[in-house]
Amino acid sequence: MIRRLVQRVQDRVQTLLAGKPRTRRAPKHIPVSEHGIDRSLVSRAAIRTCEALQAAGFRAYIVGGAVRDLLLGIAPKDFDVATDATPEQIKSHFRRAIIIGRRFRLVHVMFGGETIETSTFRALGAGERDTDEHGRVLADNTFGEQHEDAARRDFTVNALYYDPTRQEVLDYHDGVRDVRRRRLRIIGNPEARYREDPVRMLRAVRFAAKLGFEIDPATREPIGRLAPLIENVPAARLFDEMLKLLTSGHAVGCIERLRAEGLHHGVLPLLDVILDQPEGERFIMLALSRTDERVRAGKHIAPGFLFATLLWNEVLSQWKARVARGEHRLPALEEAIDRVLEVQTEKLAIQRRYTADMREIWMMQPRFERRHGQAPVRLLEHLRLRAGYDFLQLRCDCGEAPAELGHWWTQFLHADSQTRTQMAAQRPASAPAPRKRRRGARRRAPESPQPVALSTQGEGNREP
Ligand code: ATP
Ligand code: MG
Repeated sequence: MIRRLVQRVQDRVQTLLAGKPRTRRAPKHIPVSEHGIDRSLVSRAAIRTCEALQAAGFRAYIVGGAVRDLLLGIAPKDFDVATDATPEQIKSHFRRAIIIGRRFRLVHVMFGGETIETSTFRALGAGERDTDEHGRVLADNTFGEQHEDAARRDFTVNALYYDPTRQEVLDYHDGVRDVRRRRLRIIGNPEARYREDPVRMLRAVRFAAKLGFEIDPATREPIGRLAPLIENVPAARLFDEMLKLLTSGHAVGCIERLRAEGLHHGVLPLLDVILDQPEGERFIMLALSRTDERVRAGKHIAPGFLFATLLWNEVLSQWKARVARGEHRLPALEEAIDRVLEVQTEKLAIQRRYTADMREIWMMQPRFERRHGQAPVRLLEHLRLRAGYDFLQLRCDCGEAPAELGHWWTQFLHADSQTRTQMAAQRPASAPAPRKRRRGARRRAPESPQPVALSTQGEGNREP
């Protein structure tokens, strides 16, 4: 008896030292009269997933961000289900279901076009988890009890379980109270939880900005100190999280908070430099606020375009430096792009399909400056013209490229072919006169420069 008591005290001390959240075994059962979730906002596919598992004798709940959003009256963008059934058991109860993931296997249950990510309750891992030297968890893949599953989630508001059959919310960590108070509170010891997974710091910022929540002081306090741990996060994971943040519909708010928390340094290596330059900041903030508008209007966001805007200033300054050293404009731009992508992809595994888009958008920019003869007509055939043109407009809107250039292209794109021919026959006032070739000078590549944006002549031109 005494031995057991001593053991329990020892366990508790160890848990506290390890920063492991104290797990409450019995949750609060919150009825619909209290939580008020509108069942009509719940996806049919998620309800059917829970019902099928429950009919087979398992426990099954909608979990995570969906419950949080439902409590806030927001229609969730996707639904996850957690259950005590194993992946094989889950799969066997649905016609269209596949087991995915190697480290921690979960099941994608499909109904029509909707996929419900269904996972087995996960354990906390009783101290035997693999971690790196900073405490980052490398393997975390054992099944567990529901209370353990709740304790390993990041924030109290993300650790709620909704049973659509009983219309009841199971709450182990006072998440419902925190939703009502609009507080983001990490479960367990904040420092230990960030060490386990530094991405949680970025998640804190994203949720706070997206939900308009305040970060609880104890949850917030270690972030500034532990920000450098972001450096240890694998690049692919960081990219996914950055993409979520930038396409959350609250990118501007997120970036402002990242900066306030001192988190922007490790994330996009150049973001801190960029945001410290007023020119770069104006461009990025304009790009991000347009992205936010698009997301909120339910429109598609092309990640390539987004990252092209984020890194443009860096490309521009390296390009400018090379041109100042006497390099030809186009090869200089290509070199600048290579260097920027090299650094960024190492840090932030931007997938190749996105970097290909970025490169095309950037390489198109000097081509917009050639408005005479066949050049603009040829550019119309470019497959990524729309993205390149939108990018140009953004540059014009923040004053980095001449507004007149943007107007010209808008007119040109909307004109009929006869007007286009006329437009291309006139030399725009701001266009540089064609260079007289020196005798014996070697012919340059057709794309060779003297463009508007890089020249100092013409209204509204700026040096890049
Ligand atoms: P969103 O609205 O952005 O999808 P979400 O809360 O659903 O928000 P997801 O990334 O979809 O976020 O994760 C689903 C759930 O998994 C979270 O609600 C949380 O309970 C848990 N989770 C996700 N990432 C972590 C993490 N890094 N550490 C602990 N728990 C996590
Ligand atoms: Mg989610």
